[in-house]
Amino acid sequence: MIISNYNHIKQEVIETAKTCGRNPDDITLIAVSKTKPLSCIEDLITIGVEDFGENKVQELCDKYENVSKPVKFHLIGHLQTNKVKYVVDKTCLIHSLDSVKLAKEIQKEALKKQVTVNVLIEVNVAEEESKFGLKVEDVIPFLEEIASYSNIHVTGLMTIAPFVENPEENRVHFRRLKQLSLDIISKNIDNIDMNVLSMGMTNDYKVAIEEGATMVRVGTAIFGARNYSI
Ligand SMILES: *Cc1c(COP(=O)(O)O)cnc(C)c1O
Repeated sequence: MIISNYNHIKQEVIETAKTCGRNPDDITLIAVSKTKPLSCIEDLITIGVEDFGENKVQELCDKYENVSKPVKFHLIGHLQTNKVKYVVDKTCLIHSLDSVKLAKEIQKEALKKQVTVNVLIEVNVAEEESKFGLKVEDVIPFLEEIASYSNIHVTGLMTIAPFVENPEENRVHFRRLKQLSLDIISKNIDNIDMNVLSMGMTNDYKVAIEEGATMVRVGTAIFGARNYSI
């Protein structure tokens, strides 16, 4: 079931990319395995899937230690500074950098472990109270401040769009994130790349791809509904 779900979504990603004139190879489908057992990841490893998304440090580390083959674990959830030391050398990409305090901690721990950490800046494009992330207007000053952090490599932007019935409602937010990435590129800030736009989930990944997503994070449509009570 998980394998056929994955293959179906992968095919939809490819079709959506082609329909809007994009190269499907430019879009990474991240299988969001949070709350799901390691066996679900193992199922997808059998068909060559390499990118998985987790939102809790502890769970990511457990899966990292126990998985049968090395795969890429994306940290997509909010990161607390006291957890940074556990995860800097186990994640391929932190999608949720949103404060100078967190950047300082990542820099410190990455330097200790002699690694460079790839990060995305989380942007609260829709300015939802309940969500983490920087406001659009704060992103460029933030980047200018952390550009000199030698062990942090900013590779792009991430947003979590509002939960809406009609995914078209989120198009404006995805478009705004893309525009922000273009504005950043035009500033030519040292050590800052904008190759990645992580946006789009089960309900709205197609619209996100049409608006320029290079990573989509899909959980429910691949693994089924999550049960948070266990
Ligand atoms: C849970 C989660 C997803 C996946 O959401 P689905 O709607 O299940 O596809 C994507 N991104 C983030 C940041 C998440 O926390």
